[in-house]
Amino acid sequence: MPGRIPENILEDILSRVDIVEIISGSIPLRRAGRNFKALCPFHHEKTASFMVSPDRQIYHCFGCGKSGNAFGFLMEYERLEFLEAVEALAKKAGIMLPEAEKQDAKTVSLVTQLYKINELTAFFYAQNLISAQGAPARNYLLGRGIKEETIKLFKLGLAQDKWDALISHLRAKNISLSLLEKAGLILNKEGGGYYDRFRNRIIFPIFDIKSRELAFGARVMDNALPKYINSPETPIYIKGRNLYGLHLAREAIKEADYAVVVEGYLDFIMPYQEGINNIVASLGTALTAEQARLLKRYTQNIVMIYDSDKAGELATLRSLDIFIEEGINVKVASLPQGFDPDSFVRKNGAAAFKVKIKEAQNLFDYKLNILKARHNIKEPEGKARIASDMLPTIKKFKNLILRAEYTRKFAEALNVAEHYVAEELQKIKEDRPYTGLNEPPSKKALNINPTEKLLIKLMLEEAEFINRIKDNLEPADFQDERISRIVSIIFDLMKDGQEIVPHKLINHLKGQDDILQVVCESTFLPEVSGQDREKIVDDCIQRLKNERLRLKRQHLHEEIKTAQLLGDEEKLGRLMQEFHLLVTAKAQKDK
Ligand SMILES: [Zn+2]
Repeated sequence: MPGRIPENILEDILSRVDIVEIISGSIPLRRAGRNFKALCPFHHEKTASFMVSPDRQIYHCFGCGKSGNAFGFLMEYERLEFLEAVEALAKKAGIMLPEAEKQDAKTVSLVTQLYKINELTAFFYAQNLISAQGAPARNYLLGRGIKEETIKLFKLGLAQDKWDALISHLRAKNISLSLLEKAGLILNKEGGGYYDRFRNRIIFPIFDIKSRELAFGARVMDNALPKYINSPETPIYIKGRNLYGLHLAREAIKEADYAVVVEGYLDFIMPYQEGINNIVASLGTALTAEQARLLKRYTQNIVMIYDSDKAGELATLRSLDIFIEEGINVKVASLPQGFDPDSFVRKNGAAAFKVKIKEAQNLFDYKLNILKARHNIKEPEGKARIASDMLPTIKKFKNLILRAEYTRKFAEALNVAEHYVAEELQKIKEDRPYTGLNEPPSKKALNINPTEKLLIKLMLEEAEFINRIKDNLEPADFQDERISRIVSIIFDLMKDGQEIVPHKLINHLKGQDDILQVVCESTFLPEVSGQDREKIVDDCIQRLKNERLRLKRQHLHEEIKTAQLLGDEEKLGRLMQEFHLLVTAKAQKDK
């Protein structure tokens, strides 16, 4: 709930951290005049419309409308609850939160409880693995070439061959069955009661970017099926939103400026252990748009290495189109038949793996090779089939030069005249709208009277203007309902003697994203230079006053018409007098 932590503490935290430093720790920011800008991390875009203001300590995206202060950024980007974001920044700012609030943060949020349960669970499984009874599992891992320190680094664990080992362990810590069920760790028995989801398996905790345990994967130690089972989706774990290992790999990815993408836990762990640290695993057969965007925070270049079997090929092809849509450069490395990254590195070593990465093909050649293996490129029908698979991919390139280049290469490969390929390409519908896991970002034009927006901006820059506006206008004089709410909040805060600056005002707007967006967008209006400011404020006030008068006259005019129609002489007389006063008052002022 808002306001649980005293406002002055929130403000104290905000005044000691720098939003530019916080955001640039997550995404690269570029200077743009007084502000910084970046490709928005919250929606798909090609030109930067995400702005950060060091002066006002806020961010705003002109593409999708996401806005806020440092707390808001952490909540949105790291998917934290409000109190968690406050805790994180308090720590950074070196501010102690009152104990009671911290306690609240713990008991309030289901999300926090689930993280805690997962942490305890991971620890429990890890202990099992290093205990005496874990010896066979440990030997199994060592036998697969996984070193002791790797087991530790990835917090690998063991679920015992028992129905209730985890249940009894966590019940003894007073964790309720209903929470364990929400965490996806236990399952309902048909006759009532519960049992452990993971039994007799090696456990791979799945971490988020902050190294918190999100969920678990579990692998058998023999040839039993299914080879892997995973946590179901929970309030903190949504499949396809994370990349396994990114919490460890992101620095290396930034540094190398490319990421190696593999499919499974062991495909990740083995190369990582052998020194290839710019690597992540998708944990699914195809990469999602959200995963692609997650990677784009660190690099624009990706080398995919999937299994060389058919399933891997298809997964790669589906992923490729997602990368193209995200504007990421993709290459695909192939391993010899029968190998996956895990077995390849174990048998041939990291150096040979690096060679494979170096030899990765660009996606056009890769896809064409697969299609050529499936259809006969010498036959007309074969050409048509290959074209119908290949053209939609070429069409996905937003960059027209790349598109033209691949069209040319493709015509060459098919051995047909280029203009036929170009014509076929024309026939394919322009790309369907972007579909990520998140809401499709629509260009939300705020469509607010610029005068009203400008007044908000100026009020947030100089308290003196608030007084001047308050003396002349009511919140209701602002035609936009959102602006009118903001003005009334600003007036109230002013009355309480509070300092009114955007990043602090935002703390009072929790749960009101529509007006938060208005505040932030107004803040980023072009700067108004010093000597003109007062005059501009007065002009704006006058314009709104005139507008108020105009509306009042219009309203009176309509009432008069109605009174005439109804023959209400008494009312008509009163209205006419009022109208007269209004008009003469205006005439007076205009002199
Ligand atoms: Zn955006």
